[in-house]
Amino acid sequence: MRVYILSRNPKLYSTKRLVEAGRSKGWEVRVVDYLKCTIEIIKGELLINYLGKKLPTPDAIIPRIGASRTFYGTAMVRHFEMMDVFSTSGNLAIARSRDKLRSLQVLSKNSVDMPRTVFASNKSTAKDVIALSGGAPLVLKILEGTQGVGVVLVDSEKAAKSVLDAFYGMDVNLLVQEFIEEAGGADIRALVVGGEVVGAMKRQGAEGDFRSNLHQGGSATSYKLNRKEKATALAAAKAMGLGVCGVDMIPSSRGPLVMEVNSSPGLEGIEKSTGIDIAGKIMDYIEKNVPEAGPNKKRK
Ligand code: ADP
Repeated sequence: MRVYILSRNPKLYSTKRLVEAGRSKGWEVRVVDYLKCTIEIIKGELLINYLGKKLPTPDAIIPRIGASRTFYGTAMVRHFEMMDVFSTSGNLAIARSRDKLRSLQVLSKNSVDMPRTVFASNKSTAKDVIALSGGAPLVLKILEGTQGVGVVLVDSEKAAKSVLDAFYGMDVNLLVQEFIEEAGGADIRALVVGGEVVGAMKRQGAEGDFRSNLHQGGSATSYKLNRKEKATALAAAKAMGLGVCGVDMIPSSRGPLVMEVNSSPGLEGIEKSTGIDIAGKIMDYIEKNVPEAGPNKKRK
């Protein structure tokens, strides 16, 4: 079996663990920097060149596409998929998951619960937007933000109005959401691989921060999902069409609410907090899905 990990950095914990897990199955595993892939499109033929040479076709790829490189990264994933290579996450699903608004639309359509969300352009009035979202306190999210950057809590109508006016004045696209106070700055991340939850952790925001992102100083501990959380994580992964993903949920009085579904979930926090070999689970998933898979399977 030949597996490529599409990643820009072979030194990242997640990349290293995936390489290790694949090699321990006796497979040929290589880290391929997708920005250094060049694609050739000729009638009836799809090829990839890498560092000046034709890249041998793998059996499977594991995309680890950085948020700022979604366009190029998903184009490469699409090319591999068109070459009949199995991908742990499809290019369309990755692109969809990168857009917070689109993700919420898809989740809503599939009956997954989320905080009430309003999206409006700068032609609407702040007052109407605040009223539609249920009034302060509110969470504002810049659509292009990741890892908790660009997520703001405003606790009064007055503050909400002036912040909204400022953002709309700068022509920023943003989501306005009801604030789920009972989440208490904690969120739950469930790792879903091939339609199964393989591990979950609870992240607690740094003291005084309502955001639980590890990049914002949050800490993680192993967590056992209840039945509703498990069903929500699986429904979200299915709705988004992602084979491998991290589903972020916050607890609320009406049950778990999905924040987002991450198509390149980091493995460090979840593996270290749970002690589960998530990278190995991803390899098992590939093994199950690639026809004629087996150790040392050779391909031209
Ligand atoms: P990012 O994609 O930048 O991580 P998120 O939308 O996941 O942004 O928000 C970051 C964190 O802020 C979440 O993990 C959660 O802890 C907290 N948070 C986000 N939205 C809400 C909300 N509506 N109510 C309460 N807490 C929230």
